[in-house]
Amino acid sequence: MKAPKKTYKPKHGSSYDAIVVGGGLSGLLTSAFLLKKGRKVLLLEKLEKLGGRFSPEARDGFLLGAGFRFGDASAWASVADYLQIPCELHSIQNGGALLHSTRGWIEPEELPDWEAYYSANCTAYPTRGAFGIAESLLDFCEASENFSVALSSPVSGVTIQAARVHKVSIGAEMEVEAKDLYWSSDYKALLESLRGEVAEAGPERVSWLKKFVKTPSNPAVVMEFAHSKKIGEFTESLIMPFTAGEKEERRYLVGALLGNRDPSLAPAGKELSSWIMPLTESEWGENHETMKKIRSARRLLEKALPGFESSILFDRVLVLNQSASPLLKKKGEWHPLLANLSLCADWSSPEGATLEALCSQMLHHFRD
Ligand SMILES: Cc1cc2nc3c(=O)[nH]c(=O)nc-3n(C[C@H](O)[C@H](O)[C@H](O)COP(=O)(O)OP(=O)(O)OC[C@H]3O[C@@H](n4cnc5c(N)ncnc54)[C@H](O)[C@@H]3O)c2cc1C
Repeated sequence: MKAPKKTYKPKHGSSYDAIVVGGGLSGLLTSAFLLKKGRKVLLLEKLEKLGGRFSPEARDGFLLGAGFRFGDASAWASVADYLQIPCELHSIQNGGALLHSTRGWIEPEELPDWEAYYSANCTAYPTRGAFGIAESLLDFCEASENFSVALSSPVSGVTIQAARVHKVSIGAEMEVEAKDLYWSSDYKALLESLRGEVAEAGPERVSWLKKFVKTPSNPAVVMEFAHSKKIGEFTESLIMPFTAGEKEERRYLVGALLGNRDPSLAPAGKELSSWIMPLTESEWGENHETMKKIRSARRLLEKALPGFESSILFDRVLVLNQSASPLLKKKGEWHPLLANLSLCADWSSPEGATLEALCSQMLHHFRD
């Protein structure tokens, strides 16, 4: 993904209408909605690049980090309409899902919830996927004089005074004042950053937080492959069940041949495929175990799509400790902690960790 045209160093003691923490899709969406309302926004991102969990990256004509499933993309289309930014969708003819069984590719029968969620119908794909969305949002934000973005600016503390957020600390020594704070990042980090009493937290807020802290994370391996040629005609989501060890529960590798959904993701005649596979909490951070799972997933891909390995030009592997909202299975509800602190990341969305859920959440909260 392109870098912002101008980045900014916040000054000690300066004050902003709204501070948005986290430069992933939700931080960019939140900033865009606030700018549309005429607010002066400072977006703080701890890394030196924007894009968050998708990690959008252009490499040798391939667009990595585009995501593979956006439902019917109608929530994104409504956001684009509201912000008046371009939105082009590719319609997908066979947008369901196929399961790899001993009989080859078949329609999925009974799948557990997690996989059913990933296998749900996808009938439209936004051009350039999440990659394109992040860039359009950045363009929208950068067109406003009210927008500043600071990279390499981790928020390390949030000071509360009289039941309101008062100051935000960045790194070790910088402090800025915040009229309103929009947290578009990990909520465990928010809990660690809070300094002072969260007074008057109503019972729903407390139970929301307890639920949140207790919910285990959803670690996963994400594998993306750039292929020298087309490796199939599939436009469906492809699901491959497997067990990597004898005593293990069955798990699933889920993905798609993205170039068939949107040709702009790979150079002509080439293919981009993207796959996600859950890890258990104990496997996460265990390199040896993770490598074993990756090897086993690649063997499965070769079996289902013969010639897969020999077509690989390069791959990108991300091991994420949060691939999806930990509240996804719990259907948590969104309860802001303080009057001027809003929770905006996908973690807060009762509908789960998807771009569509994020977009509907934003429309719901920001549109008049
Ligand atoms: C491989 C993969 C594929 C996916 N595919 C799809 C898909 O096809 N369709 C779909 O709808 N969804 C998909 N998702 C889910 C989607 O990625 C998430 O819903 C979305 O990216 C979440 O965005 P976010 O902004 O809430 O969080 P994040 O993207 O995690 O952004 C949080 C940002 O906050 C920053 N940050 C963290 N701590 C601090 C701090 N202290 N100070 C400042 N900044 C901080 C981080 O660096 C990061 O940039 C996929 C996820 C993965 C991992």
